[in-house]
Parts: sequence; structure tokens; C-alpha cells
Amino acid sequence: MIAPVMPTYNRYPVAFERGEGARLYATDGREFIDFGAGIAVNSFGHANPHLVAALKAQADKLWHTSNLYRIPEGERLAERLIRNSFADTVFFNNSGAEAVETAIKTARKFHAARGNPERYRVITFEGAFHGRTLATIAAGGKPQYLDGFGPACPGFDQVEPGDIEAVRAAVTRETAAVLIEPVQGEGGIRVMEPSFLQALRELCDETGILLIFDEVQCGMGRTGRLFAHEWAGVTPDIMAIAKALGGGFPLGACLATEEAASGMTAGAHGSTFGGNPLAMAVGNAVMDIVEDPAFLEKVRARAGALNQKLAALVDAFPDVLEGVRGQGMMIGLKCHVPNTELTRVAFEEGVLLVGAGDNVARLLPPLTISDDEMDEGLTRLERACRTLTG
Ligand SMILES: *Cc1c(COP(=O)(O)O)cnc(C)c1O
Repeated sequence: MIAPVMPTYNRYPVAFERGEGARLYATDGREFIDFGAGIAVNSFGHANPHLVAALKAQADKLWHTSNLYRIPEGERLAERLIRNSFADTVFFNNSGAEAVETAIKTARKFHAARGNPERYRVITFEGAFHGRTLATIAAGGKPQYLDGFGPACPGFDQVEPGDIEAVRAAVTRETAAVLIEPVQGEGGIRVMEPSFLQALRELCDETGILLIFDEVQCGMGRTGRLFAHEWAGVTPDIMAIAKALGGGFPLGACLATEEAASGMTAGAHGSTFGGNPLAMAVGNAVMDIVEDPAFLEKVRARAGALNQKLAALVDAFPDVLEGVRGQGMMIGLKCHVPNTELTRVAFEEGVLLVGAGDNVARLLPPLTISDDEMDEGLTRLERACRTLTG
């Protein structure tokens, strides 16, 4: 008999009932250090008092009105995102995939509005992940995610990341945009070279192609900068963000320059829930935290300490771990053992990791993790490595 919840996940045999900071407490009494943060969502820890207070205060006032009316808290959040980025305008969504869809639609509409509707194709990259809607699985290009769902949504051309000549060769008169994660998450924490992102920016400028960054996972302070592309010193024309933007409340956004958004006029796009007052209250509370340069500086310091300790772990267990890579608090442990084995044994030892492509186990701890929580998690991870060394 099919499970009441559609069985599209192989779930761990655990249910959590409470969280605090980087700790999670299960219904059976077990306690875990959460190095996964709900896949880079709970970046400010579980039950963050500032976020909880913002949600509770809004819950007493107003939940939903529809985008038929102005939503002042949304206008405020959009202004704050704009002030802290390349963007001039923002569309609010409920998830990452929707934000990426909005980005793709914005790019296609830009060219159509200029009389070039034939420019609709998007260049994407091997190892990419952009979500699970029909368009975003086509953008990601992973055969396993496309299999059985009919003809792939047309208009995506995939090339090897890091190879600017391959990108140049893929450009045609029909190319509308280049879509890339500055740091691939699901693909195995692969950091794009700053020189590659700079070369993409130049190529796009030369050819009138729009550059879209998918910062759904690597954005919102995860890498130690508000947005990962800041490390490369280039800006996109359009950007999708989500995950940590709501700190656990479902919230995504598509940011764009005024020019890139020039086709997105009244009636061009919409959402029932996107940007509703509950989501906007939490989003503004998240901005209160990440807008502070001192917060990001602390994230970089914590990330430095964590990476150093992980490098020592790699040295101590060369049979289990091959290396550590990533940027800031977006960390990948490249494994010698199957990554699923490491995440399973780590789980048994009481520390949560997240699997990724290229045999990598991801560490995406809350950006607010304390020294105690970090050390406890590392101790448990070391125990897991010892078990796997046999
Ligand atoms: C998680 C993720 C998405 C999809 O987000 P959903 O909220 O699951 O739709 C898109 N792009 C990247 C880079 C992601 O990590």
C-alpha cells in the first residue's frame, strides 16, 4: 500500500520535534548537531528568537491578502534587497525552483519585448541543479530527474562549467541567457573560478545575452558574503534566491536590473502566495541579520575555523576522506568511502550531513553556529570517520 505521503524520498528513520540553534531533538529522545540546516535553509539556527518573534507578530495581524493589493512589508524587503545588490526590482516566489522559473521567464521576455522572440534558449552547465519543475529539470539536465516525465522542456543547451570556449561555441542567434550557480550545491560543492564568471560576464556583454545567477543555495550569507558572486567581483542581470531567504519559511525571489526586467509588465507574471505578509515579515527579519557587515565577518571567521578543523580530519582519515572544498560555510567533504555511508554513520553518531553529487557530503551548518555546537559536531564526525576506518 502506498504511503500517505507520496514516497518520493528515502527518509531517515527519525522525526524531529524541536530545535534550538544548531541542535535538533527527535521524538525518540535523540539529539543531533545539524550540519545540514535543512539544506542551507535554517541559516540562522532553529527557533531563532528574532525570526520567531517576527512571524508571531505578523501572525496576529494579517496572513494573506493577494498581490492584487500593495504589501508594504514586501516593498520594504524588495528595497532592502535592492540596496544590498546589483538589482533594481524584485519578484517574490515561494521556492527556489519558482524563482529560477521567474528568472528564465524574465530573460525570455526581455528579448521578446525587444522584437527578438526567437532568442529564448538558455545555456546551462553540467552538474547544475535548478529545481524540480518541468522547466528547471530541463535546465539542470540530469537524466535521472528528466526520465519518465515526457519531452524535456525545450530551450536549454548544456556545457561543461569552467570552459569559456565551450560556452562561446554554444551561443547561437537564439541564445537568451546563461544560467549558472556561482557555487554548485547539489552537484557537489563546486566553486566556479572567479575568472570564469568574469569571462561569462564579458561574453554576455559582447553578445547581448543576459547573465542569470542561481544563488538559491549559495546566497544569503552562506559563503561569507551576502551573495557568492561578490567574491568574483561580477554582477548578473538576473538572480534567483530562496532557501535561507526565509530562514525556514518558504520564500524565494527573483532579482533583476531595470533593463533585464523591461519585459515584465503588468499581467506578464503572477503568484497567489508569493510575497505574502507572513513571508515578508520573516524575510525582513532575515535581512536584519544578514545586512550587518559584522555578521558576515563573523561567518567568514567561523568558516575559517571549521575548514581548518575539517582539513585536519581529512589528514587523520585518508581512507575515508579525500579532501575538503567549498566557500565559507558551504563545504563539501569529498569522500573515498561512498558519501551515503559517511552521512549514514554520521547520522548514527548524532550529526546531520547532506549528500551531493561527485561523492561529496555537504556541510551547510547554521551560519550562527556556536563554537560548542561546532566542536560537538566535529567530535561526532570524527567518531563516524573512525568507525568507517574500521
Ligand atoms: C534548492 C535549489 C533549488 C530549488 O529550490 P526549491 O525551493 O527546492 O524549489 C534551485 N537552485 C539551487 C541552486 C538549489 O540549491
